[in-house]
Amino acid sequence: KSKEDRHIYITFAQNHFESDIRQNTLEQDLSYAQKKNELEVYYQPKLNIQKNVYNFEALLRWNHPKFGMILPNEFIPIAERNQSITSIGRWVLKQVCKDFQAFQEINKNISIAVNISPVQLNDPRFVQQIKEAVLEYSIEPKAIELEITENDLLNLDSAQKQFEELSYEGFSIVLDDFGTSYSSLNYLKELSVQKIKIDKSFIMNMDYYQKDYQIVQMIIKLAKNLDLEVTAEGVEKWKHIEMLSKMDCTEIQGYYLSKPLPLQDMLEKLKDNTMN
Ligand code: C2E
Ligand code: CA
Ligand code: CA
Ligand code: CA
Repeated sequence: KSKEDRHIYITFAQNHFESDIRQNTLEQDLSYAQKKNELEVYYQPKLNIQKNVYNFEALLRWNHPKFGMILPNEFIPIAERNQSITSIGRWVLKQVCKDFQAFQEINKNISIAVNISPVQLNDPRFVQQIKEAVLEYSIEPKAIELEITENDLLNLDSAQKQFEELSYEGFSIVLDDFGTSYSSLNYLKELSVQKIKIDKSFIMNMDYYQKDYQIVQMIIKLAKNLDLEVTAEGVEKWKHIEMLSKMDCTEIQGYYLSKPLPLQDMLEKLKDNTMN
């Protein structure tokens, strides 16, 4: 090997080594994060274009004492692997129920979406816990949306029953990241859902790429024919909003409206009406 090749190899190995160390550290620290109050729920608005009201999605953040803020794409997969997502998910749900009242004081009709990992569905107490949480805080189930990511961790058989019961109770079930899994259409066919959320990978460049535009248009048409609501995430430009409202999209979400913010900041923005 040339000297340069060796250098490249060593750098590569080092980077892998470092990221393994970080992963292991995070996995250990995550078991204390909840107790040490390091987890925080941020909120991002979603604008219902037809009703002209803002709803919100709860997005988890981890304020790590050493690494600073860590985003969920890094630690949720770890939590899914070691099952701690079950207790983290329960904490998020409880936090959202606590925060809900502050939103409702500003607007009675607000709903909040919570992300649910498919791994949480493996817990037989899952449905019961959600029902108890909203009961404890006197929240109507229809004000809570449950966003479930369609990926290979999602077990159709167990999801089917739980979605049916949750829909019956009045919760709104959303198929998240729609279009990104190998079996999107099969999930749509087999599961009882009220809404689909088109993944941002299709939205972000739909003003450049005819293919993306056509796919988005097709998904919105499909949703409409199935009498489902449809959200577009990753809306970063006015142009996207223009295109999406022509296509009869129900709801939009993205940096164009606002990034996810801590509770107090989001409440102020909502009160002052300073969203885009
Ligand atoms: P997601 O549910 O698909 O959420 C959308 C992600 O896209 C969020 O990233 C959001 O901040 C980001 N985003 C929103 N608008 C835009 C935009 O206009 N442009 C771009 N480039 N990005 C945008 P975030 O907050 O880092 O969350 C990542 C993923 O982590 C979420 O993807 C969700 O799958 C998962 N997640 C977040 N919170 C929770 C949670 O409490 N429980 C579980 N199980 N998963 C969570
Ligand atoms: Ca989501
Ligand atoms: Ca997504
Ligand atoms: Ca996702």
